[in-house]
Amino acid sequence: MTAAWILVTDADRLAACVALARGAGASVTCAVVGPRELADLAAAAGPDEVRWLEPAAEVPAEAYAAPLAAAVAAAGPQLLVSTSAPASRVLLGAAAARLGAALVPGVLAVRADGEVLVVDRAALDGAVVETLAVTGPLAAIADPGDDPEPSASTAPVTVLDGGAPAALRVEQRQAGAATSGVRDAARVVSVGRGLKAKADLDVIAPLLDALGAELGCTMPVADDLGWVAKERYVGRSGQHIAPRLYLALGISGAPQHLEGVRDARVVVAVNTDPQAPIFSAADYGIVGDLYDVVPALVDALHR
Ligand SMILES: Cc1cc2nc3c(=O)[nH]c(=O)nc-3n(C[C@H](O)[C@H](O)[C@H](O)COP(=O)(O)OP(=O)(O)OC[C@H]3O[C@@H](n4cnc5c(N)ncnc54)[C@H](O)[C@@H]3O)c2cc1C
Repeated sequence: MTAAWILVTDADRLAACVALARGAGASVTCAVVGPRELADLAAAAGPDEVRWLEPAAEVPAEAYAAPLAAAVAAAGPQLLVSTSAPASRVLLGAAAARLGAALVPGVLAVRADGEVLVVDRAALDGAVVETLAVTGPLAAIADPGDDPEPSASTAPVTVLDGGAPAALRVEQRQAGAATSGVRDAARVVSVGRGLKAKADLDVIAPLLDALGAELGCTMPVADDLGWVAKERYVGRSGQHIAPRLYLALGISGAPQHLEGVRDARVVVAVNTDPQAPIFSAADYGIVGDLYDVVPALVDALHR
């Protein structure tokens, strides 16, 4: 039977990761770096066992990458899984390096075919699903769906020794308005790849002023194009926000983006494509060119 270790630093999609590993017919160990409550949540998420490493005060989870990787190497699982949470990915990377595992992001499902692990993963920004056959150990950054129903059983929790931590937090301070602004704002105006150039953010600025809104964006606008600070992109791997108004300009409405705005009270979408999926998630939709609609909205708001 395949053995899987899930590297856990937060509770997001714990049970979904366990279900993903079970898809490969694996026995599942959750290696948790975090408080006891997190270990207990992991124990209830359906694994066979939980190995728990409690970080010392003011020590970030990533500082335990080396001892955790050593524990993984001693167990020698064929499958490692983490979510895309930054600290979990660090632990996964360190463990993958020790195991010589193939590191695959965007993993939707894994199944075993004899000695081979067959992986479905999202590629090209989620536009296609690609199937890979992995012969050696696999380190999967999972992109699973929502958590399944909670498990009826609770797995045993044993303690992992973290040794002396490799790093200590000496200070934590607010990163400034760029981060907290979009997360807490009552109104957010987000731009997607429908924006043609970085300079065109000047077209959006008067609308932000008129609405008293914060600027958000989709992942490619921040990550690939670098037009907006990464702290402002919204979605599964970005900010999860709950504004009273979310105005999406030139955004197609990929599921990964919509996940970040499902708690928004009112969603308004502007898109030239009447078939764009964003319209299914929007309360109000305007089929139109954002370069026409935004100045018209500003004008109307001023009047
Ligand atoms: C594992 C994983 C995690 C991801 N996490 C996130 C995430 O957290 N957040 C996120 O945003 N994405 C995320 N993505 C990417 C996501 O799948 C989409 O690729 C991305 O959200 C698309 O961005 P977009 O809507 O800006 O671009 P596109 O999909 O290219 O859409 C652009 C839209 O603009 C419209 N348009 C073009 N010109 C105009 C115009 N002049 N006026 C009006 N409309 C116009 C087009 O009709 C189109 O609908 C993730 C992907 C993966 C695989």
